[in-house]
Amino acid sequence: MNVLHSTQIIIREALSKLGYPDEMYELLKEPLRLLTVRIPVRMDDGHMQIFTGYRAQHNDAVGPTKGGVRFHPDVNEDEVKALSIWMSLKCGIVDLPYGGGKGGIICDPRKMSFRELERLSRGYVRAISQVVGPSKDIPAPDVMTNSQIMAWMMDEYSRIREFDAPGFITGKPIVLGGSHGRETATAKGVTMMIYKALQKKDIAIHNARVIIQGFGNAGSFLAKFMHDAGARVVGISDANGALYNPDGLDIPELLERRDSFGTVTNLFSNTITNREMLEQECDILVPAAIENQITRENAHRIKAGIIVEAANGPTTLEATKILTDNGILLVPDVLASAGGVIVSYFEWVQNNQGYYWTEEEVEAKLRKKMEDSFENVYQLHLTRKVDMRLAAYMSGVRKMAEASRYRGWI
Ligand code: GLU
Repeated sequence: MNVLHSTQIIIREALSKLGYPDEMYELLKEPLRLLTVRIPVRMDDGHMQIFTGYRAQHNDAVGPTKGGVRFHPDVNEDEVKALSIWMSLKCGIVDLPYGGGKGGIICDPRKMSFRELERLSRGYVRAISQVVGPSKDIPAPDVMTNSQIMAWMMDEYSRIREFDAPGFITGKPIVLGGSHGRETATAKGVTMMIYKALQKKDIAIHNARVIIQGFGNAGSFLAKFMHDAGARVVGISDANGALYNPDGLDIPELLERRDSFGTVTNLFSNTITNREMLEQECDILVPAAIENQITRENAHRIKAGIIVEAANGPTTLEATKILTDNGILLVPDVLASAGGVIVSYFEWVQNNQGYYWTEEEVEAKLRKKMEDSFENVYQLHLTRKVDMRLAAYMSGVRKMAEASRYRGWI
């Protein structure tokens, strides 16, 4: 089942549990808008390559749409649509004045030069400029995009509009109006969720064994935070393979040696596969890479007591049921990975007011939103006797459904 279809199934269930009629599902099951663009880029060897990109805007009843842009060879229409719906849910759960949006370009940035990436980033903004903007749809980083790419995109948009527009995009470098704490925000949010989950299970962080799949922005900072907190990080992985050591890995060394895309395992010979790593002994498992990693094939072999989803869509519908039945506490993606968009919102607020906050202020505000949202979802899961994912969807869909109703769309 693809990610869009499985998301639609849970949206339908969440809306029906909340008592909304079928029309509401018809409105929310797909993005309101999906733009497909073709981007010509002059490559360094002189030939012209045409890239395909997308921007999906799920629902803008609450406010402008918001969400990242990913550069990845597997980007496709249904994935971008599902990702935009997940952004709506995240914004609903943590109560931001946004709907969800998402963009993607089919490309492999690991095989492109710095200048090719700049031309592609600028070309994408020229192609989508009419549907985006600081009070329309605000992009941000996602898989394999970073603050440099955001800087090029912001510059291109500002040139087109002929005014400086820092609020057009978030995840920018600090000197261009980025927020303190944005780079580490997803990992900080995940860390806060791990603490909440450990509290519910009455386990201490000290010596808790953690496996983290993915060593990109979220995974690598999370490994650092877990290591600093005294947890034992026993497994990490990248797209090429995984490292596992029951006594704990040398995280500072791995962080030192990773490249900017989070690749590190190719420097070692004693690797195992990503699949094998997910099934190793641990207390906390954090999928922080891509979709569909925990499926009905491997879910019953997972040994962790807690799963906190830092990636978008790492667990399938069938796997969620198996994990829940096995008593695993699952903190779903739409809640666990919301730290990034929360601090993006803070960045946009700071850009709009032109007054900037300290890292401590940002972290305190992030903590309040993440912890309150965890409690909301957890209580909903207990009182309505639904799994954590359905509880999160119920919490996330409510605001946009209400806003759509007030606007007279349903
Ligand atoms: N791409 C991130 C996400 O999936 C962040 C989005 C944002 O900051 O707007 O949540």
